[in-house]
Amino acid sequence: MNDSIQIGDTLLKYKTHKNDYYIITYIKDYKEYLNKLIYEIYEDIMPHYIGTPPALRFANVCGNNAEFICENLKIDGIKLGKIIITDWVEPKNDSKIDTIYRTYGSKVSTIGLSYHALVYLEVLDENEVLDENEVLDENNNTPKYYVAIETTCGEKYDLQFYVGSNKKDFDTIIKARYQCNGFKISFDCKEDWEVIANSHNGGKPKMSVLNDKTSKTLTLNNGIRVIIVPLKTNLTHISANFLLGHYQEKENELGMTHYYEHLLGRMTSQKYKDANYISDEIYKRGGINNAYVSDYEMSIYISGIYKDLDFYMDILSNTINKFYIDRNIIKQEKGAVIQEYMGYMSAPDYKFKFNIFKFLYPKYSFIADCKKKIKYIKKFDYNTIVRYIKSHLNTNNFVITITCPSNKTAEAIKNVKKYFGVIKYKNAKPAYPVIKHNNTNIKIVNIKNDYRDDNNLIVIHLSKRIEFLSEEYLILNYYLQRILFNFDSGIFYKILRKKLGIIYYIGLAVNTDNYNADMSYYRIVSQCQQKNMPLFIKSIIDILEYYELEDEHIDTAKNYFKYCYENKKFYNLTSFNDDYKSQLLFHKDIVKNKDIYKKLLSITTSRIKEYYKNVFVKDILLKHILFYYSNRNSNKAIEPIYKKLLPSANYKTYYIA
Ligand SMILES: [Zn+2]
Repeated sequence: MNDSIQIGDTLLKYKTHKNDYYIITYIKDYKEYLNKLIYEIYEDIMPHYIGTPPALRFANVCGNNAEFICENLKIDGIKLGKIIITDWVEPKNDSKIDTIYRTYGSKVSTIGLSYHALVYLEVLDENEVLDENEVLDENNNTPKYYVAIETTCGEKYDLQFYVGSNKKDFDTIIKARYQCNGFKISFDCKEDWEVIANSHNGGKPKMSVLNDKTSKTLTLNNGIRVIIVPLKTNLTHISANFLLGHYQEKENELGMTHYYEHLLGRMTSQKYKDANYISDEIYKRGGINNAYVSDYEMSIYISGIYKDLDFYMDILSNTINKFYIDRNIIKQEKGAVIQEYMGYMSAPDYKFKFNIFKFLYPKYSFIADCKKKIKYIKKFDYNTIVRYIKSHLNTNNFVITITCPSNKTAEAIKNVKKYFGVIKYKNAKPAYPVIKHNNTNIKIVNIKNDYRDDNNLIVIHLSKRIEFLSEEYLILNYYLQRILFNFDSGIFYKILRKKLGIIYYIGLAVNTDNYNADMSYYRIVSQCQQKNMPLFIKSIIDILEYYELEDEHIDTAKNYFKYCYENKKFYNLTSFNDDYKSQLLFHKDIVKNKDIYKKLLSITTSRIKEYYKNVFVKDILLKHILFYYSNRNSNKAIEPIYKKLLPSANYKTYYIA
């Protein structure tokens, strides 16, 4: 030992072998055979860093390095496995963690970016005489040392070994070094690992949990995640998806994501510079392609005949990796995007939608402002676009989905590695703002419709933290929507349409935000004539105050879910991909349809009734925002209804000209 590292109140000693590797341990002196063994391992591993491509990479996914070492290290007297961190310590004011940060740097620059591969070794020594207290493993050997191998960025030391003389020591060393509360050791080297850089996933395995048994997910060396869905088909579908949407734009970048989506849609690259060639080729092969962008996601896809997948992958990989765009197309598409926004602005409800957004999120109103988007898009040129792409596209926010014939999975995997494995690793966290609204009382908001129109658009809005697939989400989105808002027997139709005849449509829309549950909301949406506004409001409040859910309603809803679940089994080319890709994109675990269905049925009747009465009704009656789009301000007519029906409620009225 020639030096030591202080971590919290524990002391980790380390020694170096020349400038080749570190050994970090508590053990003061260990047997020479361990020294020899570690050197042997080092000699065995190092050659794999050379080669094109090298089998081991400094900048690499931990899982692949670990897997490779597990499969290829052929040294006697050791038992190999992988270490999977299951529970990371979150950074907080903790002196221990502070010390780790001072010693190793921040989590991002050490664990996040140095791509540690942890291989687990139990070093056995059959020649050693057993102590009485020693415990035998299942093969009747005593592990003498517990070792983790870390492959690093290789600035100075390419490898680090963490050595404990017993399980407890080893535990402490790994937990201190990896800032985790827990890890597990798996001897299964067949499973793919998650990129350790996605540390909020804790490096846990991410293997095939899709609905159909044969689908699988894998992670390429550069961190790109892939879903392969084999189906009984000769067709293929490939999509490239990024966690890159409108919400990420700063004000001076407004419209950039959409503009880029238009350019990306041409699929040109340094290799295929001619947009006409690309569209002709796809057309001739019978393929179809398109691109779209939403609040959070950018997607580009091609569907066609499987034999062309090779070519489609080549096009897609190149346009993402080596983007090129003809200057004329830049000009034309600028005009097209601007025209698209002008179209949005002409829509009769544009002013209504924009002002709802502005009312809820005043600080971020620019996000929904088409006029501003047009203003900024006019200024963008080739360089701004290329800079934007470079700073936003990275392998960590990238998911590929592929549908292929059942017997072509291996080939598809081979090709996806070939075409997308060449993209350079780049990790950056997308910076999405937190756009949320806190509301504590009732608000009545008239947004003025500038046109003569007897029709009122109505939105009853409730902002609330709703986790996707949580019990609340399931009750709202399935039970209440089905029971209260269906045409056949839902109470809202029964009263407002069938009894009073003042509406045509009414619905409940639940919008859970996948990125940040705090940004979720639900809305009751309808329309009625101006003169019926007071009656509409009165009826809604009446229903909520007096209507009771019955057991029978819940039973029949369950029948309907069974129908929906069975119906989902009639899939098309992309039904699986689309269901699961956004869950992956948001770094969430994939939940099977079957599990959603099971969870849905397991919610008890009494729980649903209780939620309806004590949460849903109470929430709305206490703090909804009534937006209505009308060229007549009916606030004066609506206020007395609230006053009479909800005498204890707090409310405020607004008029937006
Ligand atoms: Zn567009």
